[in-house]
Amino acid sequence: MSITKWNEEVICFLINRLLRFLGHNSGEIRNDIKKRGIMCRYAMYSYKSHYACFKCKKGFKRRNLKDINRDLVESKVFHCPDCRSIMVNVGLDCEVPSKKDVKKWKVLESLYEIGITYHSCGCSGPGYIPKELDELKAYLEKTKSQYEHNYQSLLKEEIYDQVEIKKRNESLTHWSKKVEEIQNVIDSL
Ligand SMILES: [Zn+2]
Repeated sequence: MSITKWNEEVICFLINRLLRFLGHNSGEIRNDIKKRGIMCRYAMYSYKSHYACFKCKKGFKRRNLKDINRDLVESKVFHCPDCRSIMVNVGLDCEVPSKKDVKKWKVLESLYEIGITYHSCGCSGPGYIPKELDELKAYLEKTKSQYEHNYQSLLKEEIYDQVEIKKRNESLTHWSKKVEEIQNVIDSL
């Protein structure tokens, strides 16, 4: 099989790139890749996970042991060094508030209770996450109405198949539980 002109150019280009990469230090390679938007930032570095102790209102950064030794099976439970309570993983994008900022801690904890944390791959961010109490209330009300809408839409579906009906009932239970959870958080604010 003959190598076409196009293939030849592609191969030359790839070899050149490889040689350039080998001659670069890792920081430059990273910047180069980042500039081209090939990979997301969390794929490039081993970031420390952000853990929080709601009791002490303290945040801790912790390097994933798997980043150091990939064969390691990591225990998921970490205890607060101060009070020994179980810390929660609030996500890489979470800016843990200062101890004095009680309102922000309340927001963080309320969001955690309904399963919203600051996790993302770093490409586009975790999406909108409220920071202040007023914003949180509005956000929770909006989310609640979305859950209620999901529930109502399911009810409207005309289903006759028994298996589908069973699935629908499970979904209805799921959404009504989500509405209840979020209502409890709203009431606690
Ligand atoms: Zn603690």
